[in-house]
Amino acid sequence: MQRGAVAALTLSSLIAGAAQAATLVHAGRVIDGVSDTVRTNQTVVIADGRITAIESGFRQPAAGDRVIDLSQGTLMPGWFDMHVHITGEYSRTSEIDSYKKNEGDAVVDGVVYAQRTLQAGFTTVRDLGDSYRAAITLRNAINAGKVPGPRIIAAGKAIASTGGHADPTNGWARKFPANPGPEDGVINSVEDARKAVRQRYKDGSDTIKITATGGVLSIAKSGLNPQMTEEEIRAVVTTARDYGFKVAAHAHGTDGIKRAVRGGVDTIEHGTFMDAEGMKLMKEHGTYYVPTLTAGRWVADQAQDPNFFPPIVRPKALQVGPQIQGTFAKAYQSGVKILFGTDTGVGKHGENAREFRMMVEGGMPAMEAIRVATSAPAKFLDLFDQTGSIAVGKLGELVGVPGDPLADISVMERVVFVMKDNTVYKAP
Ligand SMILES: [Zn+2]
Repeated sequence: MQRGAVAALTLSSLIAGAAQAATLVHAGRVIDGVSDTVRTNQTVVIADGRITAIESGFRQPAAGDRVIDLSQGTLMPGWFDMHVHITGEYSRTSEIDSYKKNEGDAVVDGVVYAQRTLQAGFTTVRDLGDSYRAAITLRNAINAGKVPGPRIIAAGKAIASTGGHADPTNGWARKFPANPGPEDGVINSVEDARKAVRQRYKDGSDTIKITATGGVLSIAKSGLNPQMTEEEIRAVVTTARDYGFKVAAHAHGTDGIKRAVRGGVDTIEHGTFMDAEGMKLMKEHGTYYVPTLTAGRWVADQAQDPNFFPPIVRPKALQVGPQIQGTFAKAYQSGVKILFGTDTGVGKHGENAREFRMMVEGGMPAMEAIRVATSAPAKFLDLFDQTGSIAVGKLGELVGVPGDPLADISVMERVVFVMKDNTVYKAP
């Protein structure tokens, strides 16, 4: 054993001593994801997938090194989107497509959307609900290096109640068998809640998603009503803790938001009709808010076309969509903790960075919008020792934009450089 240790040491010193080709990013500005200070004219060195040095000035490359010229742009840690559905994308034909698509369709779609997401600068996403465990399959393929994509923290199938926002059989004719249970993510009791969480563990999920209220895109009448009891939510949360899961709760309506917060969930998604009491409760419980402004804007825009959504969905899109940004502004001002998330999948994959502009329009300073998409979610997901900031020893998960996002936040939508897995996926 001792001899093995010596051999390993010798081998690693040989590797360290060898001239390793490195990637040198010449960055006009570095925003590290933690501090308020912008460092100018820096070289960030990445070797073997990790940041090995951060130096003032533009270091000249050694033989074999690759230089990324971002001298006119800004380098940041890779971004996190805390709410996506990476294996689907809502469209005019979504309702009928749900009867035609199989497992393979969802996985192949996910491969395409994962690439778009990575190219847009997002190196980690939290997938809050799939079908056929497709996001879990995709996560495993990305982790194994088979296909490019962001790191995926996958919920698997979201947990709903009968007729609720993630009941996969809503709107089916009665001739189709449609009585899903906890295995399919549909619960109607505390016992069901526990079983549904344990099933997600068996499925290979990383986290838990519940739908605590109605939602916009489901074939159901209410977008706001509470759809789980506080006892059911608490049973989900306490069971989730046994498995190390955090719990995300989709919630639009005021009552469902409060039940979810009291029930102990970790994040409220959308939070559309959150009132002052809801904000106070969230601060007391330390619950995070993931606003998904992009999705609100998108459904409101599509609803202008009277034929885009099924008739039962359109009034909900008109009711919920325009409300979210105002709620975000109030929640931010009141001091609720916020994490960046878009609900992409509602809206087109690869356009996730629009959220930055909407957050800034809602009153959040650009530097803070960057932090809630980098170090804050990395800490929330217990990944901060690996990523979420630019520091020596961290993974080389990096994104570059032209110009200065603190002067013009829209540059976040024109990503020119993406690095992950020791691979440059996009270069200026
Ligand atoms: Zn969602």
